[in-house]
Amino acid sequence: MSFADILGHDRIIEVLRRSLRCGKTAHSYLFEGVPGCGRKKTALTLVQALFCTTLADDACGTCPSCRKIESGNHPDIHQIAPLPDKRDISIEQLREMQHILSLRPYEAPRKICIIDPAERMSVSAANSLLKTLEEPPGNALIILLTENAGMLLSTVRSRCQLVRFAPLSPEHVLSLLERSGMSPDAAALIAPMSGGSLQRAQELDNEALAARRETVLSRVDQLDIRHIASVFDASEELSGNRDATLELLDMLLSFFRDAVHLGAGSGDIVNRSLRTAIESIATRRSFPRNLELLERIYETRRDVQRNANPKLALDHLFMTMAEGSK
Ligand SMILES: [Zn+2]
Repeated sequence: MSFADILGHDRIIEVLRRSLRCGKTAHSYLFEGVPGCGRKKTALTLVQALFCTTLADDACGTCPSCRKIESGNHPDIHQIAPLPDKRDISIEQLREMQHILSLRPYEAPRKICIIDPAERMSVSAANSLLKTLEEPPGNALIILLTENAGMLLSTVRSRCQLVRFAPLSPEHVLSLLERSGMSPDAAALIAPMSGGSLQRAQELDNEALAARRETVLSRVDQLDIRHIASVFDASEELSGNRDATLELLDMLLSFFRDAVHLGAGSGDIVNRSLRTAIESIATRRSFPRNLELLERIYETRRDVQRNANPKLALDHLFMTMAEGSK
């Protein structure tokens, strides 16, 4: 990770790098912006750059310190969030943090504390932080992340340097999604709906995938040789270009593999959230028939990979699947 990996916040990064070069970073920052716009990444890169043994105003990404931060294993970085099953960050959590900050750092020049989301500090917790924000013990650096600085006590706000992160542009979300390995088609579909948040984009991707799974399962369930339209409608709706069709076939493989597992008496399946639908595949045809279909899906996948026409290949496959259904 280096500042160059952060998109859409050039001005902020320029200012942070300048303060790193002059050795004038603030004691306490308040990073405001929608979750998933790059606040946390910027905070961690800032800390990497502060500790980096190679570069003065950026993270090299390869020195031991940069690597430890990247993997989330640096002993001098403390992250505070509400405990599981708790809504707020409690005063006890902050007292413990203050105690930790008062100890000598293990290996870095100073300790770091990241509080996220800062608006979830209870009033008493926030009040207990005021002195620490003003004069962090041992030159510690405190970074608060919030969606809305207006939700924090004014006394907390006034003790921090406020940095406002704008939501990411759809173009930046698009290129971050592509970098994370998403297909350009899917990324182009999702990026404009993300509200400038990479996190939201990834949630949308999961929702889109879940919807696609349900469509595929219901189409497969409806295949019936007595209604030949069910075969052609399914391949019409589910086929796409080569990549999309390969993705569909991978999905079918995972469904039928699970159905075969269930048929063989093993309860262990990958698509646990779709258990009922998988059970229906498993019981709709005989076990040998499902094994045979699994093999046919593999063959179809090979054919499509070798340039077979996706739509024709699916027509053929769905016809075979329809034949064996009860
Ligand atoms: Zn480094």
